[in-house]
Amino acid sequence: MNKDTAPLCIVTGASSGIGLYATKSLVMRGWHVVMACRDTAKAQAAARELGIPEEGRTIMPIDLGSLASVRAFVEAFRAAGRPLDGLVCNAATYMPRLVEPLRSPEGYELSVATNYFGHFLLANLLLGDLGRARDARLVTLGTVTANSEEFGGKIPIPAPADLGDLEGLKAGFTEPVAMIDGKAFKPGKAYKDSKLACMMMSRELHVRFHDRTGIVFTTLYPGCVADTPLFRHAPRAFQRIFPWFQKNVTGGYVSQELAGERVADVVADPAFARSGVHWSWGNRQREGREAFAQGLSPKATDAARARELWDLTAGLVGLEERVAEPA
Ligand code: NAP
Repeated sequence: MNKDTAPLCIVTGASSGIGLYATKSLVMRGWHVVMACRDTAKAQAAARELGIPEEGRTIMPIDLGSLASVRAFVEAFRAAGRPLDGLVCNAATYMPRLVEPLRSPEGYELSVATNYFGHFLLANLLLGDLGRARDARLVTLGTVTANSEEFGGKIPIPAPADLGDLEGLKAGFTEPVAMIDGKAFKPGKAYKDSKLACMMMSRELHVRFHDRTGIVFTTLYPGCVADTPLFRHAPRAFQRIFPWFQKNVTGGYVSQELAGERVADVVADPAFARSGVHWSWGNRQREGREAFAQGLSPKATDAARARELWDLTAGLVGLEERVAEPA
């Protein structure tokens, strides 16, 4: 497919795991993918190793933990002057063993800054570019552990996702604050909170912009991809046991390749053209299982809370009142 006429999708965090395989699947379907990665050399090596054709991909640098880097990425992308057909907010970091929080250049706790703030800013800055394409889709990776509607979201270790009354964001989210709810730092919960915030962001994007722009906003849980590098900071024993447990006990295991296919389906397949949906294939995987719209928890669907979260986040990422209107 010609690079200038193929549908165009940005995938963040495409240097490994689900984002890398989603890139391959989209390229194989005739899309051109901008692999938005913090380590471009790693992305290049990974894409080569997986046999993703060079003409189907462009690698561009972004550090989602840095608001300045997100803005620089958008400016560089805009230079190409092309409408954007898809954006996959996929990159994430999970650092469950931290004792003290790490900080972004702006002083924000790093997992929330990377997984949520960076994507919030990126999504808002690219709305105008998505609005110029027909049937554009903005797809955000959610997770079962941030949805207390499901068993996986109720697991109390270290604590279920809970944004409280957003006290930490109201206090500015810089030192000494490290959690959205303003409570003591729990790194595993910070990850779950960031994913809950991402799912609320997607719902709020749908409410604010779907009717005006036609953009389809969705989230998905692709299954438990227990052997991606996401778990690289978890204890070694966990890294060994978790995939085995998911394969043999819960039946929740999904390969990176299948998870990538599922993401690509949500981006490209007409069956996933409904906005405001959280897609899932269930927690116990079965051959040929169809996707369905999974309900989200009251925490994720609280409309007033979602508006408040949006407004506070917009302030913290320095977003102007008006985002770029679609042409
Ligand atoms: P992964 O292999 O670790 O991929 C994460 C990607 O994010 C990597 O490319 C990583 O880049 C990138 N990244 C991390 N910090 C970044 C930053 N500051 N700026 C730019 N990119 C950054 O993990 P994965 O399992 O594929 O996870 C992908 C998504 O799926 C995440 O949103 C995760 O929450 C979600 N998810 C995963 C599972 C699962 O079971 N694995 C289940 C549900 C949802 P580097 O290569 O440079 O580190």
